[in-house]
This record gives sequence, C-alpha cells and structure tokens, in this order.
Amino acid sequence: MTHSSILLPNASHLRKKGKIVEILKIQTEVLIAIHEFLYQEELLQLMPVIVSPITDPLCHPVYEASIKYLNQRLQLTKSMALHKQIAISTLDVKGIYIVSPNVRLEKDIQSDNHLLEFSQLDIELRDASTLEFMSFMEDLIIYMLAKVRDRCKKELKILGAEIKIPKKPFQVYSSWDLRSEFGSAFKSQITQREADLFWITDFEREFYDKEDETRRGHYLNYDLYYPEGYGEALSGGERDYEYEVIVRKLEERNQSLGDFVPYLELAKAAMLGPSAGGGLGIERLIRFLTKRPHIREITLFPKVPGEPIFL
Ligand code: ASP
Ligand code: MG
Repeated sequence: MTHSSILLPNASHLRKKGKIVEILKIQTEVLIAIHEFLYQEELLQLMPVIVSPITDPLCHPVYEASIKYLNQRLQLTKSMALHKQIAISTLDVKGIYIVSPNVRLEKDIQSDNHLLEFSQLDIELRDASTLEFMSFMEDLIIYMLAKVRDRCKKELKILGAEIKIPKKPFQVYSSWDLRSEFGSAFKSQITQREADLFWITDFEREFYDKEDETRRGHYLNYDLYYPEGYGEALSGGERDYEYEVIVRKLEERNQSLGDFVPYLELAKAAMLGPSAGGGLGIERLIRFLTKRPHIREITLFPKVPGEPIFL
C-alpha cells in the first residue's frame, strides 16, 4: 500500500491545496512580527489553557464541549477571556498575551469566516482603558502589516494580495449609530463599505465586558473590523471585576453562577482588578491578508461548521 492510498478520498483537499505554502509563510511572518512587537512592549507570553472548569460563556449558543476527569467536568476552552483576566490581575506586569486554540462548536452558522477550532491572539493590559487598548492594538497592527509587506513580497505577489498600511487613529463607529443607519445586519453592511480597518464600540454581550457606570446598558467594549467584506477581526473590552457587579450581570444573562465558581471566588476575594484586552482571530487575519474567499483555505485542517471533520 502506498503512503497516499492510506488517505481517504476526501483528503483530496490536502493535495489540491493551491498556494498553501505562500499562505503559511505569511502566517509565520505575521506571528513573528506580533511576537516582536509584544516583546518590545514588554508583555509576557503565557501558554494556552485547553481544559478548565470555567470558560468564556460567549454570547451566542454553541454545543457543549466538555470531558470528565475524576469527578470534575472540564470544558474545552472557548477563549482565554477569563484566564487572561485572572492572570493579569495576579501578575504585576504591564500586559500578557496568549496564542491559544479555541473550540466553539457552532450551531447552524452559515459563514465564510467561522471555524469550529481556531487560534486567537489574546492580549490583556493591566489598568488599561478602552482608548489605551485600541491605540495599543492599532500600533500592533501597523507594525505587523509593515513587516509582513516587507518580508513577504514574493508570496503576496503570487497570491495577488496587496497590503495597505492603515493610519492611526482608525475610524470608530458606535454600534448604536450603525444599527440605526443599517438595521440589524449592520456588521456585514459596514465591513463591505469601509476601505480601511475600523472599530465598532459599545455592544451588549458577555458579562465580563465592562458596563458604563454612567450609562447603564452601554459598554466599554469594542470590535475591530476588516474592510472589503472580511468582517470581524477582534472582540474585547474593559473588564468588570467587582463581585457584586459580576453576579448581577450573570443573573441578568440567566447564566448559572455554578458555572463560574472559581472565578467568582477570586472576585469575591477582591483578587480581580481593572484591565482591558481583546482576542484577535489568527485565521481571519491571514484570510484578510491573503484575500481568500473562505477561511477554510488558509489551514490544512479546516473544521467548518456543519461539515464533517476529516483531520
Ligand atoms: N471575548 C473575546 C473572545 O471572543 C475575548 C476578549 O474579550 O478578550 O474571545
Ligand atoms: Mg466577537
């Protein structure tokens, strides 16, 4: 039996993968440039947490992904949101980052921009405000894009992709204004319309994003978006960290306090502190830079919602 005949017929995507080497070269340079920037900024890198009794509840429904170990139920982590907040509250440093695999078993999603398993660059800055985090992220994006444009000329040419370096500050829209201009599908409309990266602020979502104390129902959070229809790049926010506030917000969202016991214990002991952060999807970033029509094209082992998984 030859080596290749061991592969099942639907492995053909591995053989016909066009331009994957160029795409992965760009991904390699993207990650190196990100590490360089964060190293210069003196952030510490932490290793990812894959299984934990607590994880990000997300703000949309996904299938349960958990395993039992002894008498404990451990979840496959959906993001590093809770762990990085705990980490930055514990460590007396400017900021931390984690490149982590996230598992989100999406239900009924039709999308060219979702994978069930993907990687995220998670950053959390101690004591930072929304504006400080946004500015930090803009510097990171501009640094990384310039490096990749320089170091990947050949690959970008083969892929027919051009890198445009945006100017600081990026445009900022409030989700409320966009909703009244475009209606509920504002995200897909605005990403088609814009020509540069931009921010959308103030979304009602997970309990850990900070609510504006002076304007209840408004949030000190943000999404970074790509132009030309490539959609969401990053979600993040300032964080709530006070026990009573967190409990109230979990209850308002009908979430079981029992799902967050160790996190709540830390909050109760005043061991969480102010921070702001965000999670940047790596595959989405590479798709945007390489101008691929579907996110599946930038990985050898795609896991697309609604499709059987081969590898
Ligand atoms: N909520 C983000 C996520 O979806 C992470 C963050 O807020 O930093 O992964
Ligand atoms: Mg998001």
